[in-house]
Amino acid sequence: MTVSHRAARLEVFPIELPFVESFRHATSDRTASDSVLVKVTLENGVTGWGEGVPRAYVTGETQETMLEHLTGPLAKALFGRAWSEPVSTGDIMTIGQRLPTPNGGNVIAGNAAHCAIELALVDALLRSAKASLADVLIPASSEVLYSAAITAGSVEGTEKVAKRLKLVGFRDWKVKVGFDDDDARLAAVRAIIGEEASLRVDANGAWTVEEAEERLARWSKFRVETVEEPLGRARRADLGRLRAKKLAAISVDESLVTEADANALFAERSCDLLNLRLSKLGGLGATLRMATTAHAEKLDYQVGCQVGETAILSAVGRHVAAHLIPKYVEGSFGAHLLAEDIGDRPVTFGHRGVGVPLRGVGYGVDVREDRVMAYAKSSHSIDRGSLR
Ligand SMILES: [Mg+2]
Repeated sequence: MTVSHRAARLEVFPIELPFVESFRHATSDRTASDSVLVKVTLENGVTGWGEGVPRAYVTGETQETMLEHLTGPLAKALFGRAWSEPVSTGDIMTIGQRLPTPNGGNVIAGNAAHCAIELALVDALLRSAKASLADVLIPASSEVLYSAAITAGSVEGTEKVAKRLKLVGFRDWKVKVGFDDDDARLAAVRAIIGEEASLRVDANGAWTVEEAEERLARWSKFRVETVEEPLGRARRADLGRLRAKKLAAISVDESLVTEADANALFAERSCDLLNLRLSKLGGLGATLRMATTAHAEKLDYQVGCQVGETAILSAVGRHVAAHLIPKYVEGSFGAHLLAEDIGDRPVTFGHRGVGVPLRGVGYGVDVREDRVMAYAKSSHSIDRGSLR
């Protein structure tokens, strides 16, 4: 029997949660998490939490546009109908599709806002059923293997970080590139991680097709397996030309935000791997749909993250990765990155970069509301009654 619920209250909390150390890459400097957290309370009193990470250079969103979308069209859709407890992946996908994806202005797609409210709603519905997401997205493996990530910085700094991460025993490594000292940094990393480790680079759209060709040809000595977002969204049309050179597998990240993007990339056969990030794509349903399409197109994919994700997105990413077993996984940085996380238990990786599937109701992590309040820049509450 299907059990459904109506939402009674929506709360939105833009946060500023400091990083342990600055995490710099080719298109932005960042010293704190700027996630927007969402709490949905159902009429039965059960609550759920969601999270979205605005990135102006990815979806065009900011905390302000997220707030506007969440308290406007998304709140209206949330309160406008009853929601059934999900018992299948199909149900999870349907929930997301019944919430709009706002756009307009500089926003390509309001995916971070959509992700935040969808995750909060699904969490509340699972908790009403006293179920875990792992009961619906059944883990296909007992471990999720996270990649090491090295951001920009001096060659010395890169060596220091690589040596520290090497002790963890990661199999897969990703290095941010697009800087003058890339060659020296990559040489240092390859020397430290050894010959067996897989190495990929992320250029965050820093290059023209000629620059990409020249660098990737030179870097064959470092055995760069995959290059992520070499050209950027604006130069996406050149991607097929680069791929034809077969210098490295081509991964798309900022070039893949909407389903229309995916259709264009697939039609042009211009990529080998998709970076699927929950907040970027619009949440659980959108990510699962994109993974299904990737399977059909015989493309690899990774489950990625946004820098600064809290325990909520880390936990959902863990569930998705344990269920799908993608080629690579990134995320679960937790306390490695955040001064303090907002969950009641750590969601991080351990030795070898291994994270275990999470159990427990909802996403398997309980949000510590006192911590949310401590880092909230503001709070916004809407009751269903007030919208009538
Ligand atoms: Mg990327």
